[in-house]
Amino acid sequence: MKRDERYAEAKALIESSRHISVVGHLNPDADALGTALGMWWTLRGIGKRVDTVMASRPLPQNLSFLPGFEKIRERVNPKSDLLVSVDCGSFDRLGIERVEGAKLINIDHHRSNTGYGDIDIVEPAFASASEVAFRLAEYAGWPVPKEGAVNFYAALLSDTGFFGYEGVDGRVFDFAKRLLELGADAEWTARMLRENQPLSKLRLLPKVLSTLQLYLQGRAAGLDVTQRMLKESGATVNETDDMVNYARSLATVEVGFLIREESDGSLKVSLRSKSRADVGRIAIAFGGGGHIRAAGFTCRDMERNMLKERLLKMIEEELQ
Ligand code: 5GP
Ligand code: MN
Repeated sequence: MKRDERYAEAKALIESSRHISVVGHLNPDADALGTALGMWWTLRGIGKRVDTVMASRPLPQNLSFLPGFEKIRERVNPKSDLLVSVDCGSFDRLGIERVEGAKLINIDHHRSNTGYGDIDIVEPAFASASEVAFRLAEYAGWPVPKEGAVNFYAALLSDTGFFGYEGVDGRVFDFAKRLLELGADAEWTARMLRENQPLSKLRLLPKVLSTLQLYLQGRAAGLDVTQRMLKESGATVNETDDMVNYARSLATVEVGFLIREESDGSLKVSLRSKSRADVGRIAIAFGGGGHIRAAGFTCRDMERNMLKERLLKMIEEELQ
């Protein structure tokens, strides 16, 4: 199906649906939450009955400033006749069951997206999923209300590293400009994203930084998070979400990683690279996914040291 046909079909399907659930990925980040809530406000605005659903709990409370956050549900209403997934590369990462008879529109920007929707609107060139959702709204002629613009803007800021990552170009700034014109507040949104952290997160940070190890002549750096560290600092798992950036921030480092022990004992790995290594490829090899410079996976069948050894082998190959 051609691009325009997919947009046209998504528009028709959304406009003819009676009960829509917009769903983001497990452990939702600001892009998943902001894109889902931006869609929610937009679809409400055109008179649709619509829910936002995130199957993870707890939700990241530092993002509770996003308009509509308190309305997010944990489960899909079984009466839904349409699911719209956002920012999610594979169906299993939604953490939901399929709803009998309901269609699925997959709105995403991950290159590794498996194409699991009845209609897939996947734009790997876009820096955040919110731009994909916004372009669909624009194509369809649905007005984006101010609260929707705030959500889309927060999603964009977060996924572009505050306009600092690869893929930030004039089109991204055009998109940002449109959102500001629709009422998003640049200073307030940036402040809420950066300076709205719980104390537990700052208490956790020195524990995590104390685990820093360098590998491969300083070209890779790793951090560890254990359940014990989380308990001792009173932090929830999502409070580690951006700590992998500290590993990558070192001058000599090309690849940073963080391995977090989950409550079920599995290990959640976050990978980040600067400008050469394709960490998306590494994550895919371990059954996960993501982007070239930011990717992740969950490991259930290896203990930490074995996992690190395998991971470092793959990182070394990427650095050749
Ligand atoms: P993070 O390290 O922040 O969890 O994720 C970085 C990027 O990789 C995000 O785009 C995220 O969606 C993707 N990602 C992380 N974990 C997984 C995973 O287990 N499976 C897939 N398909 N993508 C993941
Ligand atoms: Mn994203």
